[in-house]
Formats: sequence, structure tokens, C-alpha cells
Amino acid sequence: MDKATGWQPLAALLATAARVVAFTGAGISTESGIPDFRSPGGVWTRYDPRDFTFAKYVASAEVRARAWRMRREFWQADPQPNAAHRALADLEAAGRLRGVVTQNIDGLHQAAGSTTVVELHGTSRQVMCIGHAPRVGTPDGCGFRSGYRWAFDHIDDGETDPRCPQCGGIVKSATVSFGQNLFPGVLDAAAALLGDADLVLAVGSSLQVYPAAGLPASAAATGTPLAIINDEATPLDALASLVVRGRAGAVLPPAVAAVACRTAPQQ
Ligand code: NAD
Repeated sequence: MDKATGWQPLAALLATAARVVAFTGAGISTESGIPDFRSPGGVWTRYDPRDFTFAKYVASAEVRARAWRMRREFWQADPQPNAAHRALADLEAAGRLRGVVTQNIDGLHQAAGSTTVVELHGTSRQVMCIGHAPRVGTPDGCGFRSGYRWAFDHIDDGETDPRCPQCGGIVKSATVSFGQNLFPGVLDAAAALLGDADLVLAVGSSLQVYPAAGLPASAAATGTPLAIINDEATPLDALASLVVRGRAGAVLPPAVAAVACRTAPQQ
């Protein structure tokens, strides 16, 4: 494993790849002002994610009201894609990146222009009906979905716990909470994308949240080169071909710019 701090070794590795797949985590969005779990002063210092398990959300209207307050705080800042999101979109536009598998729920890859994005943990840009009494971490709704503003509009009209307009079920952000199963097919879609990659770029993830972190781990274990761009050590560093210790917004843009206008290697 090579350990580096600058972008040049990453550019050299990118130059060898034609089917890059990025695997991203909360760290790629911190430079958009969205805190990861450890950012000082971030939303997670005011809200404990363990309070928002799927079971607690289903059981308590008070938890749901608090969860909507947390979501509103998240969107009030109007987060925008940063240079790292845009660099991955540029790499896709250059025909060198097949897609992004993200743990993030902020939709910033799509906002930056990425078109193939697998959202392992869903999206907070939408809300969905999860049914009246879903059990064992699995939503059981009627199919109602809407943009997140639907919930805020109802809350502004005085409802603290807006219910599904179609069936009266519980409405939740279309994200995967603690204690909630991943949405059907998502892990398979991510594994298929990563299985066809000739380079996996893990960006801004502590690589500690499973089953998500199992995806880059399996890719590396089956011989796909893995590059990790993160500002601290991760448990997968020893499996990686390259570890770049730095900020995603500083490392990715120059590395992508160095290869984006060059012809990709033969596939
Ligand atoms: P994590 O918080 O466990 O790890 C983030 C990693 O990124 C850390 O190792 C941190 O040191 C590093 N980092 C922070 N800023 C960085 C930067 N600018 N450049 C490079 N590295 C940086 O995040 P995770 O691995 O994604 O797992 C946490 C879970 O929390 C995920 O399930 C995710 O869905 C969720 N989450 C999502 C968001 C979001 O959608 N933006 C925000 C917070 C948490």
C-alpha cells in the first residue's frame, strides 16, 4: 500500500483506469457544510442518531416530531455540491467513471451532475409512507412518496406528525435509519457496479458502517485496486493500493483534471 498526501499519486492511478467506481461517505460532503458524525458543533452534537432508530420512530410521535426538526435544520443550510462532488461528475462525463455508490442521503452527487448514483442509505430529499405499524425494520407503506418540503408544509400548517394522505400511515424521510433494513435491490445494484470496476475510489468514509463498508472491502479482496481518500486512517487502509490522507475537495479536483482530458486506457 502506498501512502500519500498530495493528488499526484491519485492522478497516476486514475490514468490506468477506465471503469472507476466511487464509494463515498459523509466526509465528501463536509466541505458543503454538512457535518459528519464527528464534526465539532455539527447537527450530531445536538441530536443523537441513536434516538432515531426505526423502532423508536415507529413507536413515538414525539421522536417523529424531533426527527422532522432535525431534517429541517439539515435543509435550512441549503447545502450545495462542492469541488469533490463536481470532480466525480467530471470523471463520469469524461467516460472514466461508471458510477457512484454513496452512503450519503444528501443528493449532492446528483446535484453536481453525476447520473449513476446508488444511494445505499436512501435520500433525505424525499419522504415516504412506511405504513401503520411496520415491524422488524422494514417499511410497509402504501407507496406514497413526495419531496421533503411536503412534510415541512404540513408541519407549518400545525401538524407535528404529518400522516400519509393516501392511507393515514406514518411518514418518514426516505432514508435508512439505524435498525432499518436497506431498501430491496440496493446492495445488489451497488455490488454489480463495484464488481465491474477496474478501480474503486473510497472518498470521505470511515469505512466502519456495515454492510456498506463490506462493498469496497470485497472489491479489494477480489483484486480490484482500491484508493482511499480520507483525512484519517480507516480499517481498510492495509487493503488499499493507495491511501491519500487529505481533504476530498483538495485532492480529487486536481487529480481528475489531470486525467479527464486524456484518452482512457483500452478496456
Ligand atoms: P463517517 O462520519 O463515519 O466518516 C466520515 C469520514 O470522512 C471520517 O473518517 C472523516 O475523518 C472523513 N472526512 C471528513 N471530512 C473530510 C474531507 N473533507 N475530506 C476527506 N475526509 C473527510 O461517515 P460514513 O463512513 O459515511 O458513515 C456514516 C453514516 O452516516 C453513513 O451511513 C451516512 O449515511 C451517514 N451520514 C450521512 C451524511 C450525509 O448525507 N452527508 C452526513 C452524516 C452522516
